[in-house]
Amino acid sequence: MTSIPAYSADNIFAKIIRGEAPSVKIFEDEAALAFMDIFPQTEGHALVAPKRLGAVSLLDVREDDLQTLILAVQRLARATEKALRPDGVRVMQFNGAEAGQTVFHLHFHVIPVWAGRPMRRAHGHGEPADPAKLKELADRIAAAL
Ligand code: 5GP
Repeated sequence: MTSIPAYSADNIFAKIIRGEAPSVKIFEDEAALAFMDIFPQTEGHALVAPKRLGAVSLLDVREDDLQTLILAVQRLARATEKALRPDGVRVMQFNGAEAGQTVFHLHFHVIPVWAGRPMRRAHGHGEPADPAKLKELADRIAAAL
């Protein structure tokens, strides 16, 4: 696909995984990291990424890494539901800039949604969220794991 670049270890999620950039973590294991999105589309919007560097998207990830990653997505979705009591949970994943991908290290979005509270339309834009608020949400979700 023309809008999927080669993997670059300079991307922001690789820096977060290496501990070179800050993030508000929810949980991690040897294979996956769950952390808050800094431009949340709803309160509680979080991301799950494989710790192994190298996969840009769903198309090039190793099957064994995808298996553990999707279980981490389910774990996060369940904890988000338990902690924040949304009416639904949206799971999103984009492959290639044309499809909406902006960070080229594979990740899934886990986004709680509530009736009557529209999601912010665009992801990856706007003012970054207050880190203290993100930490409070991350702690609540982590407590429900
Ligand atoms: P994509 O468009 O690649 O599917 O989603 C990338 C997501 O990463 C966006 O929702 C954006 O808000 C989020 N994001 C971008 N930069 C950072 C960052 O430095 N830290 C965190 N935690 N999230 C980021």
